[in-house]
Amino acid sequence: MPAGPPTRTWDRIDQPRRASRGMSDATLVVDRIACDGYGMCAELLPELIDLDDWGYPIIRDGGVPDALLDHARRAVAVCPVLALRLARDVRP
Ligand code: SF4
Repeated sequence: MPAGPPTRTWDRIDQPRRASRGMSDATLVVDRIACDGYGMCAELLPELIDLDDWGYPIIRDGGVPDALLDHARRAVAVCPVLALRLARDVRP
């Protein structure tokens, strides 16, 4: 996620609150149709991704902490079928 000045109202309201908790404004999203379930993302980011009994990822709630943002980007980059992505978390 590119860091920059907030541009929308919810950004201006939400960004300082997230920053004070050490949270980025990013969350991980899995395309469950595209996912092959090999679990590479969970191996790279076990702090945020669990695997279900069939090897498909379960993303933990709460967004991506700042400290794990680079690891999350790496997990997204290694997904062989582009099923994992970072999106802006709009939850408060
Ligand atoms: S790396 Fe991609 S294909 Fe593999 S389990 Fe994770 S999201 Fe699914």
